[in-house]
Amino acid sequence: MKVAVYSTKPYDKTFFDAENSGHKCEITYFEDPLTEETAFYTSDFDAVCVFVNDQLDHTVIHQLAKNGIKLIALRCAGFNNVDLQAASDHGIAVVRVPAYSPYAVAEHALALIMTLNRKTHRSFNRVRESNFSLNGLIGFDLHGKTVGVIGTGKIGRIFSRIMLGLGCKVIAYDPFPDEGLQQSGIAYATLDELYLASDIISLQCPLTPETYHLINENSLQKMKNGVMLINTSRGGLIDTKILVKALKSGKIGYLGIDVYEQEEAIFFKDLSDQIVQDDLIMRLITFPNVLITSHQAFFTDTAMQNIASTSLGNITAFFNAGKIQNEVNPDWVKA
Ligand code: NAD
Repeated sequence: MKVAVYSTKPYDKTFFDAENSGHKCEITYFEDPLTEETAFYTSDFDAVCVFVNDQLDHTVIHQLAKNGIKLIALRCAGFNNVDLQAASDHGIAVVRVPAYSPYAVAEHALALIMTLNRKTHRSFNRVRESNFSLNGLIGFDLHGKTVGVIGTGKIGRIFSRIMLGLGCKVIAYDPFPDEGLQQSGIAYATLDELYLASDIISLQCPLTPETYHLINENSLQKMKNGVMLINTSRGGLIDTKILVKALKSGKIGYLGIDVYEQEEAIFFKDLSDQIVQDDLIMRLITFPNVLITSHQAFFTDTAMQNIASTSLGNITAFFNAGKIQNEVNPDWVKA
């Protein structure tokens, strides 16, 4: 089977090539993302393999169907960038990698918290210039602080336990509370209770119509002044345009984001010799209490290996055995 891999970076090729020796897919790598403009590449392929910022809206899926694509293999867990109804209507199956390393993402959320709190990024730069002053580097003890976790799925559960291990009080919100977590000492609360009580809030839920702009002017008002807000899930969970005002007023005391609402145009690209046109991210970067990473929370060797093996496993199961494994479809989402 012929597979068109979109949005390819050198590291994707390394891990997919290594894993493909056991799968024997005919892979063509495209650096371009999948969009309306690049969908025509697929005319001679059976499947596409795509990532978080590839665009699979109705128009693109219609073009894929016309070109004979039978399978969309997401090499990620989130599927908010795919019009699942359109894929179903066109008879294209959609599969994903439901978990590649929830530890990687949970640990990255911790890295954001630790860096923002203890300002090790600033110390690193200072000491390299022989500036050994501590002015402005003061942090706080995490021990005893209240951490609010929104979404306690695979990543949220691991993150909650990490924070518990650091001596934090952890409260959580999820429409489907996890019994095991409750037994570990994590209390579920309403969203409002979580906003009110948390010193740190970490978003670990998927982006859905229900969670779109979950963090907005209204929810922010309910939070503690100086709250630390962490988002490693999806940019659209936060109404990004409220952030500058909230940082200027001190409502948000620390902001750590690995995802950004308009990330498609900038993340995963080296724009260091260009004029970046996104004024909002450029303003956010100027705050000393903001830490932005470009969707790298998943990026460990374990995760990359798992992504390649599950993606290729999904593809070969579909074409060689007629099995749709790790499927996402509209009925499953509704259920
Ligand atoms: P998961 O499906 O295991 O868990 C999601 C949890 O969110 C579930 O428990 C679900 O009940 C809960 N949830 C659903 N709607 C909710 C709502 N309205 N409010 C609160 N909770 C809600 O997913 P996961 O593997 O833990 O991943 C979580 C998210 O992390 C993914 O959707 C993805 O967007 C993101 N992610 C980011 C990266 C990265 O590199 N930054 C990597 C992987 C995943």
